[in-house]
Amino acid sequence: MELLTDAQALTRWSRARRASGGGIGFVPTMGALHAGHIALIHAARQQCAHVVASIFVNPTQFGPNEDFSRYPRTLEADQAMLTAAGCDALYLPEVREIYPEGFQTRIQLPEISAGLCGAVRPGHFDGVALVVTILLNRVQPDVAFFGLKDYQQFLLIERLVTDLAMPLRVVGVPTVRESDGLAMSSRNRYLNPEERQRAGALYRALLAARDLRRAGEGSPELLEGVAREVLHAAGIERVEYVAVRAARTLLKVATVTDDEDPVMLLAVRLGSARLIDNMVLSREDGA
Ligand code: AMP
Repeated sequence: MELLTDAQALTRWSRARRASGGGIGFVPTMGALHAGHIALIHAARQQCAHVVASIFVNPTQFGPNEDFSRYPRTLEADQAMLTAAGCDALYLPEVREIYPEGFQTRIQLPEISAGLCGAVRPGHFDGVALVVTILLNRVQPDVAFFGLKDYQQFLLIERLVTDLAMPLRVVGVPTVRESDGLAMSSRNRYLNPEERQRAGALYRALLAARDLRRAGEGSPELLEGVAREVLHAAGIERVEYVAVRAARTLLKVATVTDDEDPVMLLAVRLGSARLIDNMVLSREDGA
């Protein structure tokens, strides 16, 4: 795997790969890699001749009291995992390369950023939209891969790419889970063993809502209620939100109908970690 430590090296790599033919697949990450990230590399490997990942812990998407400075940094292990997964190149920019002196551009998607994680983390999605735009401009991929685990982020990026007419395809990759259903996340490292055990309740809460939906329940409040009960029973008290929304727009729905699948999204605090998860509550096979 080639290490690309600055923009010039990345541009050279990108140009040479494009000239050699075959599409470029791009997987942006913040590092501390796990099997969820590797599923994105595998998806890129399947669909593209050339695969480049990036690791950049983006300061503009962290709030002042969030975990930017303690975010796990495990570069050596990350490189080994990417190499084993068949990633061709890794872009590792410095903060000053992404945000050089004089930088002042802002990007906002006010509607999709308004609720859920956007409401709890003001400015977070502005930072995501900004860094993703810069990275996409630098890499110029044909396809970019993002996890559906960060569901609101995925919809935001789809919208951003459409609105700014960026010439690439965005692919969403299903959430990779631990054996008890906990969505893999770099932030799971913050959990102590007892918290880690309780964290399985997030997935069980989503399954309980999905089962109730499959039994024909159409009330968002009742679906949210059953999920909250599961979290409560596991002693998870700091629930930021449990919400049933229209899966394509994230708008509130008065009643769930068969016309559009709803998605349940949740966010909790457990110990010093903030955990999110989601599931499309379709009537048939679910997610
Ligand atoms: P992060 O390093 O947390 O910024 O994540 C980088 C990419 O990996 C994002 O597109 C995430 O949605 C995706 N991702 C993170 N965790 C998972 C997971 N458990 N399953 C699938 N994709 C994931």
